[in-house]
Amino acid sequence: MSLNGCQSDLSTLADYHIHTVLCKHAEKGVADYKTAAQGRNISEICFSDHGPNPDGYDPSHRMEMRQFLSYKQMVASLQDGKAPKVLFGIETDYYEGCQKFLGEWLPRQRFDFVIGSVHYIEAWGFDNPAKSRVWESVDVTVTWRKYFELVGRLADSGLFDAVSHLDLPKKFGYRPPDKALKEMVQPALDRIARAGMGIELNTSGLRKPVGEIYPSPLILSMAHERGIPVCFGSDAHTPEDVGAGFDLALRLACEAGYKSYFNMSRRSM
Ligand code: ZN
Ligand code: FE
Ligand code: FE
Ligand code: ZN
Repeated sequence: MSLNGCQSDLSTLADYHIHTVLCKHAEKGVADYKTAAQGRNISEICFSDHGPNPDGYDPSHRMEMRQFLSYKQMVASLQDGKAPKVLFGIETDYYEGCQKFLGEWLPRQRFDFVIGSVHYIEAWGFDNPAKSRVWESVDVTVTWRKYFELVGRLADSGLFDAVSHLDLPKKFGYRPPDKALKEMVQPALDRIARAGMGIELNTSGLRKPVGEIYPSPLILSMAHERGIPVCFGSDAHTPEDVGAGFDLALRLACEAGYKSYFNMSRRSM
């Protein structure tokens, strides 16, 4: 799908990151998200709820394995030929040892889109508001470096189509200097490019203390240099947030040099 200069029509955009009540921290029904997308002229949506992990990883922020079938049915019930088109996706965390379950389970589910996230550094949920005070007691640059090493491994795993909220550690405003940031982002982006993956312009950061889209313009232009394709995601946990901030995201993509974005229902740029 193309971006015509910076004037692209918002109505052709797709929102590839939408949650459901099954994750235990979102609200309203899936049909409400679809209706919200209709009202905003979004052409396509993808539910990418937090995937189940029977190995016991972070159970309080995701559906149970026994709920997976109802997730599938909820999404399928909206695939009725009426616009917007509804895709079936999942937001899956990368963590040490995740391949044991995910390597076997993910490929069998026939998802339209698998977005990979890192929400934990060791046992610390670094983007969890209840744990944000920990940022005061860690070395910020070292922490970000650990994060991007995990993102690199996420890419190497070959399990995911794209990386979500690529610079999530900035959520509460703690960031390394640009020079250090560039040094740690380069190898991670190289690994994402090598894996043939995309990244997401995630607008949820606009609603967080940092008040910015993920990733930053600096990182986005580095991704563009490597030919890494982009998509758009609101990370909506409530219908009002579907497509939120997409005008800004579009401008950011254009300013970084992007002329197109990828579309999973066509599996092309
Ligand atoms: Zn969530
Ligand atoms: Fe996430
Ligand atoms: Fe999400
Ligand atoms: Zn997310």
